[in-house]
Amino acid sequence: PRKKTQKIKPQASGSVQWHDVASCEDPKYELREVIEFLRNPKQFTKLGAKVPTGVLLYGPPGTGKTLLAKACANEGGAAFFSASGSAFAEMFVGLGAARMRSIFKTARKHAPAIIFIDELDAVGAKRGTDFSGERDQTLNQLLVEMDGFDVSKNVVLIGASNRLESLDPALLRPGRFDRQILVGPPDLNGRKEILAVHSANKPVVGVDMEKVAKETAGLTGADLANLCNEAAIHAARAKRDRIVQTDFDEALEKVVAGLESRKVMRPEEKRTIAYHEAGHAVVAEVLHD
Ligand code: ADP
Repeated sequence: PRKKTQKIKPQASGSVQWHDVASCEDPKYELREVIEFLRNPKQFTKLGAKVPTGVLLYGPPGTGKTLLAKACANEGGAAFFSASGSAFAEMFVGLGAARMRSIFKTARKHAPAIIFIDELDAVGAKRGTDFSGERDQTLNQLLVEMDGFDVSKNVVLIGASNRLESLDPALLRPGRFDRQILVGPPDLNGRKEILAVHSANKPVVGVDMEKVAKETAGLTGADLANLCNEAAIHAARAKRDRIVQTDFDEALEKVVAGLESRKVMRPEEKRTIAYHEAGHAVVAEVLHD
């Protein structure tokens, strides 16, 4: 028997609320406009205002792009449809384009709606770099759908990408993803806010979050969420019912070490780091306090 193609349904945007997305002040500010549009499109269209219906969130993984898209859907009372660019790339020839078409079609039926396409680079890479032409077909279909966007239909497309430079320039043209918003790693204050969000539902006692935030420069929201979870695991393994400073210290060690082993180091880098670490050891030995 022929396998029926998977039906496209709105997904739960979960319970992601606006305030669950910590830091990210700039993206949140820009996305307010989209939410107001979803809630009350007439207010915009009657004045002849053109609202961006294609918004591109770009930045390193784990900085909260998916979270932002879901929070937008919740705030705007919109149905949430999501697809991953890499899933299109794995499909048989022609199927990716067909699926793209039906996602838009279904979303229009459920309007107000947000279509979220994660890993946009997997479909939206510069054309002509793909042997089978399959990705190009999917990309072409996406462009066709975007050009056919009817603002009165109340559907907003949000794309997410790690690399803006690798996207086909056609995607970034006016009328398509013409609003590009950087979602970067959090600064000190942002990290404090994210840590607060992820420890809010945990029995954290007497932990200096300012210190934790200071020690986690460069970590993303996802890393920080992971850190809070590791701290809770550590406390559980110590059979305590509270999460204390040592749990965070141990978790930090683990998370940061995990991050370091993720990238492959060149011998030259290893050598430099060895000198650097030896410096720490010498100083610690000489200056006891
Ligand atoms: P991206 O889509 O940018 O790769 P996600 O939105 O999927 O990242 O984030 C992964 C997880 O990391 C989220 O589910 C959340 O737990 C945490 N996270 C990331 N950014 C934030 C943030 N700004 N505030 C709170 N949690 C965050």
